[in-house]
Amino acid sequence: MSTFPYHDRFEVNRRLPEEGRSREEILGELQEMAKEEDAFWETGKCSGTMYCGDHDHYRFLTDAFGLFAHVNSLQRDMCPSSTKFEAEIIAMTLELMHAEAIEGTTPAGLVTTGGTGSIAHAMLAYREHARQERGVTRPNVVKPETAHPAFDKACHLFGIELRRAPVDPETTLVDVDWVDGHVDDETVAIIGSACNYGYGTVDPIAALSDVALGHGVGLHVDGCLGGFILPFGQELGYDIPLFDYRVPGVTSISADTHKYGYALKGTSVLTFRDQALRNSQYFFVTDWSGGKYCSPGMEGSRSGGLLAATWASMVHFGHEGYRNHARRIFETAQAMQEAVRSHPELRILGRPTFLFSFTSDAFDVYHVNDFMRLRGWRFNGQQYPNALHMAVTRPQTQAGVTEAFAADLADAVLYAHEHEGETPRSGAIYGGVAGGMTGDADTFIKAVMAEMMDGYQQIPPEE
Ligand SMILES: *Cc1c(COP(=O)(O)O)cnc(C)c1O
Repeated sequence: MSTFPYHDRFEVNRRLPEEGRSREEILGELQEMAKEEDAFWETGKCSGTMYCGDHDHYRFLTDAFGLFAHVNSLQRDMCPSSTKFEAEIIAMTLELMHAEAIEGTTPAGLVTTGGTGSIAHAMLAYREHARQERGVTRPNVVKPETAHPAFDKACHLFGIELRRAPVDPETTLVDVDWVDGHVDDETVAIIGSACNYGYGTVDPIAALSDVALGHGVGLHVDGCLGGFILPFGQELGYDIPLFDYRVPGVTSISADTHKYGYALKGTSVLTFRDQALRNSQYFFVTDWSGGKYCSPGMEGSRSGGLLAATWASMVHFGHEGYRNHARRIFETAQAMQEAVRSHPELRILGRPTFLFSFTSDAFDVYHVNDFMRLRGWRFNGQQYPNALHMAVTRPQTQAGVTEAFAADLADAVLYAHEHEGETPRSGAIYGGVAGGMTGDADTFIKAVMAEMMDGYQQIPPEE
C-alpha cells in the first residue's frame, strides 16, 4: 500500500463509489495532483516530454478540445467540422513536408493517436500495398538500429520481419551499404529518422532514397520528433539535410503534433507521397448485420476534440510562431552543447540538432546522471554506449536554465570523477529510470521491466 500514489491523502477507489461525489471536490483533488506534478518539469530541468509547457496555451487547447471532446469523428454526418480539422491538419503538415515537390501522385495523410500509431499505420500500409501490388507474402523492413522501437512493435504486431542495420559509432548514422545489401524481393520499406530519438541526428535520407528507388521499395522517414521543428531549423539556416518530399524516394513521413506541434497528447500525422499507399490499409466489412463498416485506420471511435485542439494549435502558431519557438530551442540546445563540450571528459555523439546525447570515455556517464538527478534534472538514459540525452523543449528556454545546466554539469563531472570506480545508481530505460540495469541478462531485465509495468497498471492494493 505504501507505494500506491496519493493513498495517504486521497481516498483509494477499489470499487465504484456507491454514491457519487461533487464535481468541486473531484476537481479540487485533480488540481492538487496536477499542480504538484507540473512543478516537476516547470523548472525546465526535464528532457523532452513537455514540449510546450505554456499553461495559457494548454488552456486554449483544452477549450478547443472541450467543444468537440464528446464527438465521435467516425460519425462524419454529424460532425463535418472533423473533416475540416483533419483535412487541414493533413494539408498543413504536407506543406511543411514540402509536398509541393510531389509529381504524378496524389499526396495524402492520416491523423493518428501518436508516433507509435503513425509508424504502425505506415508499416501496415507498406505490408498491404506490397501484398496487393507485388504479391509479397513474407514482408520485411530494414531500419537503422537507432530508429524507434515503435518499428519493432509494428513489425511484431503485423508479422513483418525486421532487419536492423548497424550505425557508425562516431556519426550515429545508418550504414547505407548494409541497408542496400539487405533489401530483397520481400522488402516492403526501409526506414530513416529525422531525427532519431536517441542522438538527435538525421540519417542520410538522400542516400537511403537512392537505395529505395534503386530497389523499388518504400522509404518511411520517421519525423515523429523532428517533423514540427526541423523544417523551422532549416528556415533559420541550421545545417539540416533534406528529409522530406523534396527527396524523391521518400514515400511517407510521420510527424507528431503532440510533440513539437505543441498540441495535446494523443495526435500525430502520417503523410504519404501517394494516396494509394494510404488507402491500401483502409478497412471494410461490407456484410455485417450491424451495417456496412469502414474505418480509415486502426481506431474505431475517435475524439473530435483532439482533432479540434490539434488544428487550433497549428493555426494559432502558424509558421511564424513555430519558427520563433524553434529559434529559441535551437539556441538553447547550442548553448547546452557548448557546456558539454567544455568538459574534455564528455563527448557528444554525432552531429545533433535540438536534441543531443553525450557519453564519457573517462567514467560511466550515469554518475553524471546520478548527480544531476539530485539537482532536479531528468535526462533520458541510453546504452551501447551509456549516454544521456537531452531533448530541448520550450521549458528549457526560460531564463537561467542553460546557466543552471552548465553549473550543475560542472559539479556533476567532479562527482563522477570522485565515484569513478563505483557502480552508478541509475541506468538506461526509456520513459523512466530504473536502477542497476545493464544489457546482459535479457530474461532478468524483462522480468524487472514487467514488474515495473505491473506497478503502473496495478489494481489498488487492500489496506
Ligand atoms: C516519440 C517518438 C516515437 C514514438 O511516438 P509516441 O508518440 O511515443 O508513440 C517514434 N519516433 C521518434 C523519433 C520519437 O521521438
